[in-house]
Amino acid sequence: MSGRRAYYTDAYTTRFASVVEEVTEEAGRPAVRLAQTYFYPTSGGQPNDTGCLRQRDRTARVLDVVVREADDAVLHVLDGPLSLGEVTGEIDWPRRFDHMQQHTGQHILSQAFIRVAEAETVGFHLSPQSVTIDLDRADVTPELWRAAELLANEVIWQNRPVHAREVERAEADALPLRKIPPGRDGRLRLIDIEGFDLTACGGTHVAHTGAVGALKVLKVERRGANARVEFCCGGRALADYRQKHDVVTGLGEALTTGQADLLPAVVRLQDEAKGLRATLKRQSAALLGLEAQQLLAEAEPLGAARLVCRVFAGREADELRQLGKLLAEAGGTVGLLGSAGAQAQLLFCRSADAPGMMGELIKPALAALGGARGGGRPTFAQGGGPPAGEAAVTAALAEARQRLRAAANAVE
Ligand SMILES: [Zn+2]
Repeated sequence: MSGRRAYYTDAYTTRFASVVEEVTEEAGRPAVRLAQTYFYPTSGGQPNDTGCLRQRDRTARVLDVVVREADDAVLHVLDGPLSLGEVTGEIDWPRRFDHMQQHTGQHILSQAFIRVAEAETVGFHLSPQSVTIDLDRADVTPELWRAAELLANEVIWQNRPVHAREVERAEADALPLRKIPPGRDGRLRLIDIEGFDLTACGGTHVAHTGAVGALKVLKVERRGANARVEFCCGGRALADYRQKHDVVTGLGEALTTGQADLLPAVVRLQDEAKGLRATLKRQSAALLGLEAQQLLAEAEPLGAARLVCRVFAGREADELRQLGKLLAEAGGTVGLLGSAGAQAQLLFCRSADAPGMMGELIKPALAALGGARGGGRPTFAQGGGPPAGEAAVTAALAEARQRLRAAANAVE
């Protein structure tokens, strides 16, 4: 006795009385088997129901519902133990109804793809995030999927009855079924969308196609020899429409333009931004050139060369690098540059004809900033990372300057 699956014949009952016939464990958690259950176990691409089971003195939440392989029994995995005897069950209806809308929508869409594109469904996946089917052809054009989407919605609007019934395998073989599970004997459960689709399926479905509400294809992508079609139905389609409507309305208000003009408006903005970035880059380079000249004018002598030692506040590493490069290009120059802030930066560089080993010089200076990372070559070195105030960066540079002077004097 594996427990009767009452949802097979009735997908709309959400509160029911039953009897706990077995108390067990599943993956270390308490679990029970009932005489009959309306809880749907994870199978056939459809996730399990959740809800609760109540006994006189306690309530257990149903966290998972699984099929025990050994005897095909439906096990309710609980957040706390229950005992043998009478129990009432309550299914989380919004979750279940969502699964019914998506699953019935899937049957309709799968049949629509057969009629419109001769494409068979070879996979089905339903999760809280997405619903997908995999088709056995890769070249599903927008024209094809739009035609399938329209046909699916027409079948929804026709409000056709959806029946579940059980037949013997031999009888099923003679029926025009869309899908028969391979290698299974005994009785088969069929889902019949009147006059449109007949297939073997163990899932829960709405009673009439109208309850699917609407179906929208969201994405079609090639996957090897298959195409994966992502879609949504009913409540999910409404939620998706709401979200998109809010985004489009917000964009329209921000850009003061109507829905139809949004895309060209965004493209225009992108072009403008591109032009502005190019102008900004040119002007920044000109400004840095002027700044480098100013720094060189204020440089202190270093033997036959000159030294620029300067601390900035919150300057970008890239800007520091450009400034150092300009100083080094001037010839006979050493630049010891630092930037204080949330991410302190050091940049040491020199002209080929100036003294000092920048890669060596920067190491103790980075260490003085508290474990900053970096290094470099004799003519160019940089590093940074941890936050450091202006005083700390100034002190690190002052020490580097002293070392540089001492080394230069030793050479002379
Ligand atoms: Zn199904």
